[in-house]
Amino acid sequence: MLSYQHAYHAGSFADVHKHLALFGLLSALQAKTSAITMVDTHAGRGLYPLADAHTRQAGEYRDGIVPVWAQRKALAADPLLDDWLGRLAGLQSGEALRVYPGSPWWFAQAQRRQDPLSLFELHPGEHRGLDSQTSLARKQIRRIHADGLAGLAKMQPVATPRLCALIDPSYEVKTEYRDVLKAFKQVAKKTRHAVILVWYPLLADDRHRTLTDGLGRAGIPKIWQSELVHHDLAPGQSGMYGSGLVLLNPPYQLDQRLDAGLTAITRVWGGQARCQSRWLAGE
Ligand code: SAM
Repeated sequence: MLSYQHAYHAGSFADVHKHLALFGLLSALQAKTSAITMVDTHAGRGLYPLADAHTRQAGEYRDGIVPVWAQRKALAADPLLDDWLGRLAGLQSGEALRVYPGSPWWFAQAQRRQDPLSLFELHPGEHRGLDSQTSLARKQIRRIHADGLAGLAKMQPVATPRLCALIDPSYEVKTEYRDVLKAFKQVAKKTRHAVILVWYPLLADDRHRTLTDGLGRAGIPKIWQSELVHHDLAPGQSGMYGSGLVLLNPPYQLDQRLDAGLTAITRVWGGQARCQSRWLAGE
């Protein structure tokens, strides 16, 4: 039985990392007019009011988006952050940050008439939450109560010239790293131009290495990796200390734009926060 609820983690440092990358990715892809099939394999509810009891109780947004929001005027010197924070500001009813949007909203705000969007969510309650978001009620948005990895595999090859998928599991089950690796390889093989963004947590036992080492050995031509350490763990300490992303077929120079934006954000967070990136394959 699934128990993960993203409301506890909305606006966390990992969300900042993932959603900035997703926004930058979609903006870069849309420099061309040809249609993009957009797929969010693990959608969550889509919108998270920060006043929600679960979100407030965990309070992860306080170390994540809140300091970034507070410094948004200074951060606007970076063009990608200026665009991203401007889009986030457009969702608020005033100066205060009251709602943090999840990946379905970041996809939906970028959607053009020619870009079909499929949002998969398996948890019945989370799917109900997603289904009730009126801002996502559009003909070109399908909200599907089903397994996202199987759904993405079934959609190949897509009818549009391009594909952009986000794979963002909760990793409640350890086998998910292997499942994601398998799905990534299958889609990359069937749809060679596919653009796939995968998120993973950085944990003390490095369990993400099943995924990233496997991708490095898979013979896929072009994969970029970005990791963000939020704080170092003391010896024996557990928990998530950082956030990782791998991106298949990144658009030209997106790596540099994201590195610049993330470096500015980690400076705002201060302390031990830092980011690094490299090519897992290619370049
Ligand atoms: N992508 C969201 C965002 O950035 O706002 C957060 C997603 S959260 C990390 C993972 C979500 O995947 C949870 O809502 C969980 O219920 C859902 N989920 C878990 N297993 C799934 C599966 N096999 N297929 C689709 N959704 C799944």
